Amino acid sequence: MTNKPIVYWASPIEVAALRSDAKIMSTNNLVKTRLILDKILDNIQAGDKVAVKVHVGEAQNTRYLRPDYVREVVDAIKSKDAIPTLIETQGLGLRARKIDISEDYYVCINHRANPADHAKIANLHGYNESVIGAPLQFIDGEDGTDGKKIQIDGIHFKDVSVATGLFKFDKMVVISHFKGHPQATFGGALKQLGIGCVTKRNKFLAHMGKLPKILSRKCDITTCNQECIESCSVKAISIENDSAVINQDLCYGCLKCMLKCPHKKKKSPIKNPSMILGDAFVERFIDNALAVMTSFGPENIRYINFAFDVVVMCDCVSNPGPPVVPDLGIFGSTDPVAIDKACVDTEINAPGLPILEKDGTWREPEPPGVEKFKASSPLSEMLGYQMQFNASLKNKIGSTDYELIKI
Ligand code: SF4
Ligand code: SF4
Repeated sequence: MTNKPIVYWASPIEVAALRSDAKIMSTNNLVKTRLILDKILDNIQAGDKVAVKVHVGEAQNTRYLRPDYVREVVDAIKSKDAIPTLIETQGLGLRARKIDISEDYYVCINHRANPADHAKIANLHGYNESVIGAPLQFIDGEDGTDGKKIQIDGIHFKDVSVATGLFKFDKMVVISHFKGHPQATFGGALKQLGIGCVTKRNKFLAHMGKLPKILSRKCDITTCNQECIESCSVKAISIENDSAVINQDLCYGCLKCMLKCPHKKKKSPIKNPSMILGDAFVERFIDNALAVMTSFGPENIRYINFAFDVVVMCDCVSNPGPPVVPDLGIFGSTDPVAIDKACVDTEINAPGLPILEKDGTWREPEPPGVEKFKASSPLSEMLGYQMQFNASLKNKIGSTDYELIKI
């Protein structure tokens, strides 16, 4: 008997026996998903309201997790007479935008920034009741600001705003598409908790480190109609000593004030902080993950990671790039750190895939033993697999030491 958390793994390549008496001795990835679920959904009881955390993918992204896998999770929950609901929160930003790249073509950004645009993409990608068999609910309200403040003793944060709607549920199954991420190196279960379950305020604080500020030396209230005050839906802006100021306890970083202020670019009095990279970003979202786990109860959460289309970038972008390794399979666990570590270890041990360069030549694949996302990223010196695990161990939210059981 071991005290290490177990990670169940179904390889996509291996032909597995379904049952000892089965005539058909091979299983497909949906059956393997169900075999993993049989191992990890032991905590779900009849009548439980079960949140199924998903990410529907940005518009134009073609590498997001296929809804077929999510339907399998939903069916497994229903088979226990429990009630599944897909849950999601709003992405950063304000509104969906299209950036023209020619007269006929454009690139989509921020299509998950508000419920209306987010629901359109969810439908387009098959994340709805008619395809998956469970409704999709946004758990952080219209503005992405409905949160419950959870006190923690984190690396950076003392409190985190966790999406209020989460607390209507008894259990949660976190579904993650394991792939690369430009700031965090990879995205898996930890990122689903630490970014996907918190309000925009804590998403903003994780990505930027601080909230916007108004520089009094640039803010001249005689040159405007104080549009910033009107634009702020949470009434975070007031005038003090002839200058607008932002209440940092209320602001959630939507930047509507910056859009409405008549002074733009270098003349803008509103200072939007720059994105933070590496440990600074990762430690903050692991603080968020700590708040989600402690408030919802680690025993109420199960994790399933799908390592298919293991691409360089995350599902929040319209072009996530090519896969860096072959499909690695399906992983299931009770521990978010162990499951992500098992995915990372499997990815490092796998041979890389050749990558097509801009000039049309193929880059030699990376050999087993190399961190493929780091090797493929232009920000590679800022990245590293250990960042998420070091921060998780500091916050004591799981174990990097695990037992891998092949299904
Ligand atoms: S102060 Fe500006 S950035 Fe902050 S919530 Fe209000 S409008 Fe949004
Ligand atoms: S921030 Fe812009 S809109 Fe707001 S008071 Fe200052 S100058 Fe006017």
